[in-house]
Amino acid sequence: MRWSRYFLQTVREVPGDAEAISHVLLSRAGMIRRLAAGIYSLTPLGLRSHRKAERIVREEIDRAGGLEVELPILQPRELWEESGRWSRYAEEQILFHLKDRKEGEYCLAPTAEEAVTTMVRSGVTSYRQLPVTLYQIRTKFHDEIRPRFGLMRGREFLMYDGYSFDTDAEGLDRSYKAQDAAYRRIFERCGLDFTVVQADSGAIGGSASEEFMVLADTGEDAVVRCAACGYGANLEKAETATRRAPWKDETEAPLVEVPTPGKGGIDAVVTFLGITAARMIKCLVYESDQGFVVALLRGDLEVNEVALKNALGVERLALASEENVESATGAPVGYVGPHKLPGEGVRIIADESIRDAVNAVTGAGRRDWHVAGFVLRRDANVQDWAVFAQARAGDPCVRCGKPLAIARGIEVGHIFKLGTKYSKALSCGFTDEKGETRPAVMGTYGIGVGRTMAAAVEQHHDADGIVWPLALAPFEIAIVSLNPTEEATRSAADALYEALGAAGLEVFYDDRDERPGVKFKDADLIGFPIRVNVGGRALKEGNVEVVLRRDKSVRLVPTAGAVEAVRALRGELAGK
Ligand code: ATP
Ligand code: MG
Repeated sequence: MRWSRYFLQTVREVPGDAEAISHVLLSRAGMIRRLAAGIYSLTPLGLRSHRKAERIVREEIDRAGGLEVELPILQPRELWEESGRWSRYAEEQILFHLKDRKEGEYCLAPTAEEAVTTMVRSGVTSYRQLPVTLYQIRTKFHDEIRPRFGLMRGREFLMYDGYSFDTDAEGLDRSYKAQDAAYRRIFERCGLDFTVVQADSGAIGGSASEEFMVLADTGEDAVVRCAACGYGANLEKAETATRRAPWKDETEAPLVEVPTPGKGGIDAVVTFLGITAARMIKCLVYESDQGFVVALLRGDLEVNEVALKNALGVERLALASEENVESATGAPVGYVGPHKLPGEGVRIIADESIRDAVNAVTGAGRRDWHVAGFVLRRDANVQDWAVFAQARAGDPCVRCGKPLAIARGIEVGHIFKLGTKYSKALSCGFTDEKGETRPAVMGTYGIGVGRTMAAAVEQHHDADGIVWPLALAPFEIAIVSLNPTEEATRSAADALYEALGAAGLEVFYDDRDERPGVKFKDADLIGFPIRVNVGGRALKEGNVEVVLRRDKSVRLVPTAGAVEAVRALRGELAGK
């Protein structure tokens, strides 16, 4: 492809709303254009990389036995009512919905469990027709609260979504593992450094769920990892072994009130009383769809709200307003006392971190006072115990006890053992060997194609621009003609362009009448893995320069051997 005949404009300005480097670089390289918040157009160059990511996904999922289908993007509300997802998604506010001329309600699908289950329900009757894994790679919609980061969190984006249907849990396990293996090949082929972590499966209660995380400082997710044993989990899901308790081996002291005027927060009390935060018991008041909840945990720890929500089995959970804290507990925020809570109307749940707490400090149940000598077993009436304190770097690993580390990750893919939630709700059953009807056992799988492409940029760039992994580069090789108006340079560059093309290589030929410096800058910004400079002194001496984008190393190669040299270098890159 010749740049002079292509549609491509690089830009100098950084988009005003760009927070992520991939957003900046994909925009500046002229690969994406913003149409509205979270809505992007792909230019011819951008589409090439996007299609490459898509092709890798399709090849590997096909290889794993997936069968491609096309499910409607526009879906009727009734279908979503059948599964119970309409109200839940509407509440989370990520569902785009609209009305047609007859006042019928529809959504633009964020995933397609209902639609695919309906397809399988109308075709499958017997266990002999299972297992089957159906998938599509189609546009999805999320009405994201904060669309940002360019292709990484859009409102309209391309997603691979796959769905497996099995007769039993063992079958599901096989289908799930096949997806897992395909995902590993996909992200390896994309040249990404990724890790697979346990993920929250939410209140739906699937039995396993894992996320594929591309490690990058800009990642929106926190992942907990143990270098010693390989344990990995999304922070939302991460567990830890029991932490050392500050009150270990102490004997119980009596409960005493201590004045703490104007010292509502943990930090203020800790400084004022000269104690450690771990000595305190934090009382957090939440409102849920099942009423008020007081969550108790050690003062130096934070609540993992996903874990708390799961432990309580509630759909909605949010910190209570100041007024509601006072009306529910009788004490203002910062002074709630676990021993002064009303017996009814407030559910008390405690984190394992305070299981044997003695001589702790906590709120007195009235303004400007705390209590010391608090013994949990003696002084509070805890109804439920659970683990909902968030893991911290350095906490002991739940598997091996070694210290955990926390890193940032970009969720590029998700695999999820769903079970029978949708097959039951939508009556997708089959008859087994004994003639009994049973619901299909489902798995659901997703990969963000644009997010994967952007994650590659997050991981592979330098001060000058993108450093595409070979597999996702829009073109693998660029030819830069240093002086297209000079006949000798033009004919040598043209000849090389023809020869590389004839050798089956993918070449982008910068034949514009621009200064070499401008062209080098553009080539570095776009990030072609290999660049060949044609012209100048090198050409006069019968050579061309072959430049590797990754480390900017330059090889001087005789013009006659240029095709072979490029092919060899490309082979080296492909092998890594
Ligand atoms: P997130 O937690 O990042 O909001 P999700 O868990 O809601 O994503 P899933 O339903 O698991 O999303 O979607 C499957 C995959 O689709 C994700 O792993 C991700 O790669 C991609 N994806 C999800 N939301 C977006 C988005 N707004 N823009 C681009 N890709 C997305
Ligand atoms: Mg997910």
